[in-house]
Amino acid sequence: MSRLDRNFGPGRGERRPDYDRRMSAGDLGIPPAPPIEGAEHLHSGKVRDLYRLPGGDLLMVASDRISAYDFVLDTTIPDKGAVLTQMSLWWFERLADLVPNHVLSVDVPAAVKGRAVVCESLAMFPVECVARGYLTGSGLREYADTGAVCGIALPDGLVDGSRLESPLFTPATKAELGDHDENVSYDVVAGQVGEQTAGRLRDLTLAVYGRAEEVARERGIILADTKLEFGARPDGTIVLADEVLTPDSSRFWPAEEWSPGRAQPSFDKDVVRGWLTSPESGWDRTSGEAPPRLPDEVVERTRSRYIEAYERLTGRTF
Ligand code: ATP
Ligand code: MG
Repeated sequence: MSRLDRNFGPGRGERRPDYDRRMSAGDLGIPPAPPIEGAEHLHSGKVRDLYRLPGGDLLMVASDRISAYDFVLDTTIPDKGAVLTQMSLWWFERLADLVPNHVLSVDVPAAVKGRAVVCESLAMFPVECVARGYLTGSGLREYADTGAVCGIALPDGLVDGSRLESPLFTPATKAELGDHDENVSYDVVAGQVGEQTAGRLRDLTLAVYGRAEEVARERGIILADTKLEFGARPDGTIVLADEVLTPDSSRFWPAEEWSPGRAQPSFDKDVVRGWLTSPESGWDRTSGEAPPRLPDEVVERTRSRYIEAYERLTGRTF
């Protein structure tokens, strides 16, 4: 799939994405998108199905699929798509004074009510805009190897879960379906999208992180890091797109359990990852084989975790 195929924006996305050159959506375990009357299916990612509506706007549907270790699992998590969609909408509202967002309406076909939005069709920037306030995951691995993250040198002695002195913009290339994203330096992004746009993406990413970190902290949740995606309108306006500040795109840690020097408990796929890598699952991560189905109990605990994150953040009942 070429970079352009990722863009569904005006003048760019008339072709269907071409999965053939790499792994196909099917190889990744992504089931065919359900037909929606009056909407044309454009693309299925690991979690979301994208459709074009008559008139050109997009319908972005969050499924209940869950991915782990770069596989889309056979097992779905009931209500996950709705939780993620509602959480994104809640955050978009709280960020609206910082950056425009792609949401046009929540008036969607009945079949996808609550887990879909109508959004502007943007020309997406091929950059995962990541902000990190704490060191973990790929950032920690890079730091352990090089003492830096995305070319930003960090002080000695940091450990898993350490709070960074100030939040960092640590972009990653948006990988092709089935590939890993790769951390890159700011200069690589500037080379890709131009200096001015790169600067805007960085400033917006850090502004969103700053706001969200504060909101989450008031609710006893640490926002360790988050991944944002931006796109451009035909007039060049940069718009916040995709999902925002969900457990799929961010690391949320219960603040009361934060303890640097170990992996932190989190409001996301911890339960799934823990089970998959336990002897109980019988799965060998290095085998290249698809993971087994999740037991009901793991599904239920994962579902509760997502709902708990939503309720704790928003103060609403799901
Ligand atoms: P990939 O993004 O690699 O296809 P993914 O698993 O991240 O895999 P999803 O998040 O499930 O994919 O799918 C959402 C897709 O929709 C992403 O490719 C994202 O860049 C794109 N997207 C989100 N918002 C918009 C928008 N407003 N206009 C155009 N494309 C968008
Ligand atoms: Mg995505």
